[in-house]
Amino acid sequence: MLLKTILNSIEKHPLFIYGTPKIITNDGEKRIEIPIRARKGSKGSCSSCHKPAPGYDTLANRRFSFIPLWGFLVFFLYAPRRVDCPDCGVKVEIIPWANGKSNQTKSYAWFLADWAKVLNWKEVATHFKTSWYHVFTAVKMAVAWGRDRMDIDNITAIGVDEVKWQKGIFVTLVYQIDNNCKRLLWVQKHRTKYALRTFFNWIKKERSHRIKYVCSDMWKPYLTVIKERAINALNILDRYHVAAKMNKAIDKVRAAETKKAKREAPKGAEVILTNSRWCLLKNKKNLTLKQGVKLKDLLKVNLQTVRAYLLKEEFQHFWQYQSPTWARKFMKTWCTKTMRSKIEPMKKIAKMLRAHEDLIMNWFEVKGAISLGAVEGLNNKLKASVRNSYGFKTFDALQIALYHRLGKLPEPEKTHRYF
Ligand SMILES: [Zn+2]
Repeated sequence: MLLKTILNSIEKHPLFIYGTPKIITNDGEKRIEIPIRARKGSKGSCSSCHKPAPGYDTLANRRFSFIPLWGFLVFFLYAPRRVDCPDCGVKVEIIPWANGKSNQTKSYAWFLADWAKVLNWKEVATHFKTSWYHVFTAVKMAVAWGRDRMDIDNITAIGVDEVKWQKGIFVTLVYQIDNNCKRLLWVQKHRTKYALRTFFNWIKKERSHRIKYVCSDMWKPYLTVIKERAINALNILDRYHVAAKMNKAIDKVRAAETKKAKREAPKGAEVILTNSRWCLLKNKKNLTLKQGVKLKDLLKVNLQTVRAYLLKEEFQHFWQYQSPTWARKFMKTWCTKTMRSKIEPMKKIAKMLRAHEDLIMNWFEVKGAISLGAVEGLNNKLKASVRNSYGFKTFDALQIALYHRLGKLPEPEKTHRYF
């Protein structure tokens, strides 16, 4: 009786009545079954046109999983009616607590989806004695609901980014990076012009033209599409992308040099570059004590790796300039010096900076206007999500999980009422 009272206060459907709950314990499985019947004299509504229609017949009982309670799995039992709709013919009635043919109640789906934000899908499934697939469908429902209702009218700054998903397959990402709203807007397979165009197709022309800033990396297809679609936007090359490119270059130099040193070193001799990777790539202030000592030792030797590292460190000053004129001058000097360094991967960076000088200089124009660290922050969160979520074999699942975790999607108010 108490259960019925609770249900009527949290989940009342005016045209339906809860019967007496039955507790069933069977081979260690404990469950509560709650029968539901239609209110006397009420008409079912056609699931196609949503209008009430005269009854036709009644189908067999169906079970709908509801939120588990005190270790009991909870199910609603209901025999859906079919209606004879004057417009659509014989149709199954609308069942207000479930979506279409789903055997999950909407409440349970929202409950699972909410947990899927803090635990990975497999953990949610284990914890609530359901399957990975049920968690997936729950999150899918939540994402579809939220994306139908999300507000995309006030986007003025976006970040375009890419992430490696499976071997050789990249995914294009678009973030909103306005100061007051940072979220993931778009996920599309591949890093092609087409991939980025699908984003602009989605927000349509008028909204695309209202975008003022686009932060991106130097990937040519992206630059082309940004120019073509976000015609009023200032394209900025993100500091974080430049840093990532430099790290890659250093890593290349280091790997080649280590290989060479190992080949040439006398047997048993220690090669100084061994295990040096992280102390060269990490931000200086994040180094462990051991890595710090290693770095100090390294810097004493005249290696290409070390010179490349010092060039990278030097370039950090570029971002500190108040005056764009001086910053530009600094970049020019840095590029000349690097071109003379004879370190091929670093020379490539200098060429790249020269080729995109104006786009990089735009960075000084938007300092403060948009959240420039946002792309990096969102990217890190995203990579963690990709790592933590098992079973993303399909792109569909990956896309849904990312929208769910990082999309800041709206939810019905009711979602948090259960806990
Ligand atoms: Zn109808």
